[in-house]
Amino acid sequence: MRPLSRGPSTKKYKDYKRYHKDLLRSYGPFCAYCEKKDYDLDVEHVEPKSVVPAKTTDWNNLLLGCVNCNRDFKKSWNKSRSGYIFPDLNETFKVFHYRTNGTISAVTAAAVATRKLCGLNRPAAISNRQDALKRAIDTKREVLAGTRRPEDVIVWAVTLGHWSVWVSVYHDVPAMMTLLCDHQHFPGTRMTFLHPVNRPRIKI
Ligand SMILES: [Zn+2]
Repeated sequence: MRPLSRGPSTKKYKDYKRYHKDLLRSYGPFCAYCEKKDYDLDVEHVEPKSVVPAKTTDWNNLLLGCVNCNRDFKKSWNKSRSGYIFPDLNETFKVFHYRTNGTISAVTAAAVATRKLCGLNRPAAISNRQDALKRAIDTKREVLAGTRRPEDVIVWAVTLGHWSVWVSVYHDVPAMMTLLCDHQHFPGTRMTFLHPVNRPRIKI
């Protein structure tokens, strides 16, 4: 789960759905939870609007979520942020580790609760991560062999999404890490994940 840096809101809308374009500009077309690339993302309320109506149009309560994470799983099951972790405030990359079989390992109780809340280990999400993982591992071998340029690989990463998978695979390739950290490709990434303890690795 890509840690996100929330910039200030510049506008105030009465209809929360109008924040979609501002969220897209801030974070790119990626689900804040499962990280898949999707141009049909919902404006997702971290604290559910049915539970905390006062935060329905509060910029600090909004993220982009895919239909599966938002409507099929999370819904309004969480009553607040308490007991969960969220990518706009917490060190998500420290507590979710991405395994080579496509599943996510959660290393704290709050991470386990969040993984369940958003259905992050649902079969379709695992399958999506496996696709990104295979592409990341295959291209890494080519990059290390000098037969493929990082500038080509970042196009794949942006096309498929799943930033955490790409970073887990490419953690030791500085040229790729620079591109993965570039807001031009993945807007809004919070850079604290670069601290070594925040960076799980996939060894290939
Ligand atoms: Zn999702």
